[in-house]
Amino acid sequence: MTDILFGQSYYLRFDEKLWRAMQPYPPLGTLYAAAYLRERGYQVALFDAMLAESTAEWDAALKKYQPKYAVIFEDNFNYLSKMSLLRMREAAFAMIDYAKQQGCIVITAGADMTDHAEKYLERGADFVLLGEGEETLAELIDYLQAATYGEVNDEALYQIQSLAYRHQDKLIKTPPRNIIKELDKLPFPAWELVDFPKYQTLWREQHGYSSVNLVTTRGCPFHCNWCAKPIWGQKYTSRSPENVVQEMKWLKDHYAPQHVWFMDDIMGIRDKWIEEFADALDEHQAHIPFKSLNRADLLLRGRTIPALARAGAQIVWIGAESGSQKILDAMDKGTTVEQIYEATRKMHQHGIKVAFFLQFGYPGETREDIELTLKMVRDLMPDDIGISVSYPLPGTIFYERVRHELGRENWYDSQDMAMLYQGPFATAFYRHLHTVVHKDYRSRRTWQNLKHLLRNPANLRPAHLRDTAAMIYHRLTLPAAVRELNQLALLPHEPTPLPNVVLQ
Ligand code: SF4
Repeated sequence: MTDILFGQSYYLRFDEKLWRAMQPYPPLGTLYAAAYLRERGYQVALFDAMLAESTAEWDAALKKYQPKYAVIFEDNFNYLSKMSLLRMREAAFAMIDYAKQQGCIVITAGADMTDHAEKYLERGADFVLLGEGEETLAELIDYLQAATYGEVNDEALYQIQSLAYRHQDKLIKTPPRNIIKELDKLPFPAWELVDFPKYQTLWREQHGYSSVNLVTTRGCPFHCNWCAKPIWGQKYTSRSPENVVQEMKWLKDHYAPQHVWFMDDIMGIRDKWIEEFADALDEHQAHIPFKSLNRADLLLRGRTIPALARAGAQIVWIGAESGSQKILDAMDKGTTVEQIYEATRKMHQHGIKVAFFLQFGYPGETREDIELTLKMVRDLMPDDIGISVSYPLPGTIFYERVRHELGRENWYDSQDMAMLYQGPFATAFYRHLHTVVHKDYRSRRTWQNLKHLLRNPANLRPAHLRDTAAMIYHRLTLPAAVRELNQLALLPHEPTPLPNVVLQ
């Protein structure tokens, strides 16, 4: 007998670009919630949309498990959930419909649900959990179980903090609760509910190794003014190094992943934490090479990079955003272009790869600013890049500045790249800029790799022939692509000026 069927609405199958990339990760946030409720004595099951073909599989899971509660609990650690993609909202709505048809009490939680609770309630959800979710969900299910026996009343429902529901046609939002402070007291995610062999097979077939996701923290205390924080606000909490290493050891013993993605916004705000983490990994023989995210300024503290290297950091993604200091300042990023240069060089000196998140289209960005970003990429040749355009999300200063210009408010899927507000140039320009940057960067990167390989020709493989052909194609087509970009820059467009008003 299943009390609660957990699911989430991010379907890799519905996101063409990432489906091609095929780097699936289990829905970590959902697994935390499932473990939390299971620890309180509820029988739980999981529907994993990441590996599903369609929402019909959720319907089949509802019929199989016959749960009383259907909980669509997004993975708040995955940046894709934070983007509130319209395709996934459509999927969540379909999941609500199916669950209501089965007579379930439907509960939803996640960034989009927190920002747009009324939309989910209108669609048929009975409750929306605002923010972090686990504690609210546990209290709500306890309440609903008691209500079944007539032991509680409406006033008791209002005592549950961070909850949205409808009462007599009115939207009720209860006062917010504090975030969970002692993360070590949480159970580990309910890993046993995940189809690990399937994940591992997909990873090995596509990439030659298997990878799994973990978090060491929740939230971020920095203030980049476009960065949405619907779940944890400006708060930041951290697990102890020992607690993280225990989980890594458990995963190593049970599933032997060859790689970890630490999904934290920032892993290791304190350099002492990273040192203790490296010590604990040594002590328990629990090293697994990993990818993590960090800020250029934090990486430059004297002990951070050596500790990351000792802990097994393989690649660190930096939110570089722009090579123009003017744009970094406009974003309230709090970092400098020099720090990006210095952090990249130091990471490479310590044998850690570096990747950049780049963002184009922030208000006030000119072609000269874009050129500075491209120059930074050419100068430093990071080991990977990810490109996006400025994306206004509710709750941010950036969103408030441009909300009067928004047509639709979200991308459809992750390759949409639409300029949702009156950015410096039209959407067509940014979509093509993405192509130009990739042509330039990928061909340079391949050339760099080839030069290295030519020194050890024994390592050459047939795949390098394909890479070389792609490199030649990109170099030959780049001039025409740049000419087209110049034409697109001339499209009539009314840009938003550089923000010069400080909002209260
Ligand atoms: S440091 Fe990263 S996560 Fe934190 S506010 Fe800035 S962009 Fe957001």
